[in-house]
Amino acid sequence: MALTFDEARTCVLREVGVSMGTETISLAEAAGRVLAEEIKADRDYPPFPRSARDGFAVRAADLPGELLVNGEVRAGEMFPGSVAAGQAVEIMTGAPVPDGADAVVMVEHTVRNGDRVRINRSAQPGDNFNARGLEARGGDAVLFVGVHIGYAEVAMLATVGHTRVLVYRRPRVAIVATGDEIVEPSEQPGRHQIRNSNAASLAVQVSRAGGTPVILPTARDEYESTRACIEDGLRTDMLLLSGGVSAGKYDLVEKALAALGAEFFFDRVKIQPGQPLVFGKARDKYFFGLPGNPGSTMITFETIARAAIEKIQGLREPALNLLHARLARPFHQKAGLTRFLPARLSSDGATIEPQVSHGSGDVGAMARCNAYLVTDPDRTEWASGDEIRVLLK
Ligand code: AMP
Ligand code: MG
Repeated sequence: MALTFDEARTCVLREVGVSMGTETISLAEAAGRVLAEEIKADRDYPPFPRSARDGFAVRAADLPGELLVNGEVRAGEMFPGSVAAGQAVEIMTGAPVPDGADAVVMVEHTVRNGDRVRINRSAQPGDNFNARGLEARGGDAVLFVGVHIGYAEVAMLATVGHTRVLVYRRPRVAIVATGDEIVEPSEQPGRHQIRNSNAASLAVQVSRAGGTPVILPTARDEYESTRACIEDGLRTDMLLLSGGVSAGKYDLVEKALAALGAEFFFDRVKIQPGQPLVFGKARDKYFFGLPGNPGSTMITFETIARAAIEKIQGLREPALNLLHARLARPFHQKAGLTRFLPARLSSDGATIEPQVSHGSGDVGAMARCNAYLVTDPDRTEWASGDEIRVLLK
């Protein structure tokens, strides 16, 4: 059955659940993984009222006015005394606000004169510092199960002293290219042959999605070979096949999968490139039959299959990196398909220009673009300057 793009993505997200176990790894290895434990603050954050500015710690009620400066406090110190009425303490960014003070005034708004400081404006309690526990209270959850660990999450783990972290295991994802015309990249192809680029691009995409790619031998366009390769692939956590899913006489992937008792959730999606996209389950493993044209393989992985790899390793909210930009020139299409077309997004992210591409076999167009223009299947015309969706590459 043919699904719309949204239906196909929803189907994958609904069907696939967490199936990977967990392991404990060091903080240095954590980037790119999915968190399998809730992380709690080990103390209040900030642990003391932390000045956000260089300036003077004051009592807001004393302002405007002239105050006696009775000391200074910098980051890494505690001021030993407290700020009494009519007094101020010089303070640096990151330093604890002394007892008695309830605001910090930026140095730019003060005039220093010996041991006195003149402040001509008023202040509100709470100005320019973060109260103790403002960001998190000791014991509060600061990171949740199912989040992708990126640089900010690593910073949070480091902040709370979590140097070992429980994450989901990486799924091993088998990659099986198919086709009698396919030779390996290191080989010299005959005129009628094509180097296997899909295994290479899929391996990168699987790694980016947090999986471990396992490239298996290419299946020939012959039933026994295809079936044997599929059986091998189903021994990993997920199977990706490229090619052999179109309507051609030698497109044997679906037939071989069916013979292995596969359940098919869909075998056609109204997208371009990549219409003959197959998703199902066999021997308790999910598989995708990705169309073989390199552009189709890349796009169907990125927009549909990737979410499955993310979900089996616990990612709670697989998302597409979509944004909006204005078209640099008019664009039109025939209604009916969601298209993902190679394009150039300007460096300020404001405008998008479709790029010349000679179809889904054009690896060069895929390599030269930095984004994909994403069309709405119901719309046929866009004027120059109209907003359109963009998927980052
Ligand atoms: P298929 O989906 O098997 O009909 O393949 C469609 C087109 O993609 C054909 O022109 C193939 O030569 C090409 N193709 C298939 N598999 C690969 C691959 N692994 N690497 C590069 N091109 C491929
Ligand atoms: Mg083929």
